Amino acid sequence: MSVQWVKTVNGRKAEMGANWIHGIDRNPIYKIALKNNLLSETFEGRKLGQKVMFMTETGQPVNTKIIEEVDWAYGTLIAQCEDFYQCGIPTPMENDSVGDFVEREFYQKFADRYSEKELRLRKMILEQRLLGECMITGCDNMQEVALSEVGSFEEIPAVHYVIPPGFEAIMDVLKRDLPNNSILLEHVITEISYGDDGGAPHEVCVKCQNGRKIYADHVIVTISLGYLKKHANHLFSPSLPEAKLASIDSLAMGTVNKVVLEFSGQILPDEVFRLELVWDRDIEDNVDMSQRWFKKINSFEAIASNVLVGWLSGREAEYMETLSDEEVGRMCIEVLKMFLKNNGSSLPQLKHVTTSKWKSNPYTLGSYCFIPIGAKAEDIETLAEPVVSKSSKKPVLLFAGEATHSSFYSSSHGALLTGQQEAQRLIDLYSH
Ligand SMILES: Cc1cc2nc3c(=O)[nH]c(=O)nc-3n(C[C@H](O)[C@H](O)[C@H](O)COP(=O)(O)OP(=O)(O)OC[C@H]3O[C@@H](n4cnc5c(N)ncnc54)[C@H](O)[C@@H]3O)c2cc1C
Repeated sequence: MSVQWVKTVNGRKAEMGANWIHGIDRNPIYKIALKNNLLSETFEGRKLGQKVMFMTETGQPVNTKIIEEVDWAYGTLIAQCEDFYQCGIPTPMENDSVGDFVEREFYQKFADRYSEKELRLRKMILEQRLLGECMITGCDNMQEVALSEVGSFEEIPAVHYVIPPGFEAIMDVLKRDLPNNSILLEHVITEISYGDDGGAPHEVCVKCQNGRKIYADHVIVTISLGYLKKHANHLFSPSLPEAKLASIDSLAMGTVNKVVLEFSGQILPDEVFRLELVWDRDIEDNVDMSQRWFKKINSFEAIASNVLVGWLSGREAEYMETLSDEEVGRMCIEVLKMFLKNNGSSLPQLKHVTTSKWKSNPYTLGSYCFIPIGAKAEDIETLAEPVVSKSSKKPVLLFAGEATHSSFYSSSHGALLTGQQEAQRLIDLYSH
C-alpha cells in the first residue's frame, strides 16, 4: 500500500494519497484504526463533510434547495446505474457509459421543467457531481466507465473517518508483527521467474535491479495495475497466461492527484469543511490544456483552518504533473479568488504548495483502477487468480492489491483484504 504524506509548516500531515477510511463493516483498516485509537471525525475541529459551501465561479453561493434537488435526482440515477450489473439488466445501448446514461436520463427528467437559465445551473451542478464521481472512480470522465459493470463496486456505508497521525500509522501497526528486516525497501523488481526453472529448490526467483535474487516457494505480487500494464509483458518468465495479460490490458488505471495549499491564515469560514466549485464548464477539447486544466478541480477541503487540499482527476491531473508547484499554486489562487470573491475578506498569503504525481511515479503509473468500456468485472477476478505450478500443482504466483478485489477495487481496504486473502490461501495450503 503506497503511503505518501507531506508535513505542512504548522506541523500537520497532509496525505498525498489515501486519507479516508471508507466505511466500517468489513473494513480491516477501520478495525485497525479503531483498535489503535487512530480515528477521528474531525480535522482540527471541522466536522468532516458537515458544512459544505457550493459556489459558482462568479462568487455566488448556490441555492441549497437546488443542490438538494439535483443531488436527489443524481443519487437516484447512480443507483439505477448500479442496477444494470446487480440485477443483470442489459444496458440501454451497446457499450453504454455511466456518463452518457446519467446525462441522457437527467435531461429527460429536467429539460421540459425549467427555463434555459434554470436548466443551465442544474447542468452545472450535475457536472460538478460527475467530476466528484470521476475522483472516486479514478477516471478522466464518466463516459469512460462501463455502465454494465459499475455496480460491481461496493461502497461500504457509514461515516468516512480520517486518521490524524496519517495512514502511515496503519502501516506501522501492520509492520509491528513482522520479523525484523523482512521488508526490503529500494529493491526494484526487474524479473519474476517461476515454474520449473525458477531456481531450485524453490519455485520462484525474484530478481532485483541491484542484482539481488530472492528465492521463494510462493510470491504474492502486489505491484500496481499501472506498473503491470506497462511491464507485465516482460516482467514475468515464463510469460503470464494470455487471459491474465488480456485482463491487465482491459482494466484501466486512472489518475487522481491532490494539491495541498498552505496559507498564512484562515481561508474558508469557520466550520466550513469543503468548498465545492460549481464551474460553468463548457469545455472544448481544442482549448489549450494550460487554459483549462484547473477547471477539473471540483473541490477544496480544509484539513486545517489554513490548509486546503484540492482534488482533480484524469488528463488534467496528469497535465498538472508537468507544472511546477509554484505554477499550480498561482493558478489555484486565481481559482480561489474567483469562487471566494464575494466572501468578504481577501485571501491570506500562500506559503507553500505541494502536488502529488501519481502518474509519473514509475512504480504506480497512476492512482487506482476502474472498469472502462470494453472491460468486465470478471477481468478483476482473472487478474486475481493465482498461477499454479505445472509440476507441484501449487500456486506459485498469487496476486493481491486494490485492482484484484472484486468489489472494493480502488480502495486501501480492498488492497489489504486481498493481501490477507492470498496469505490465508497459503496458510490453508500448508494446514491440510
Ligand atoms: C490521491 C489518492 C487518494 C486516495 N484516497 C483514498 C482514500 O481516501 N481511501 C482509500 O481507501 N483509498 C484511497 N486511495 C487508494 C489507495 O491508496 C490504494 O487503493 C492503495 O494504496 C492500493 O494499494 P496497493 O498495495 O494495491 O497498491 P500501491 O499502493 O500502488 O502499492 C504498490 C507498491 O508496489 C511497488 N512497486 C511497483 N512496481 C515495483 C517494482 N518493479 N519493484 C518493487 N516495487 C514495485 C510500488 O512502489 C508500491 O509501493 C487513494 C489513492 C490516491 C492516489
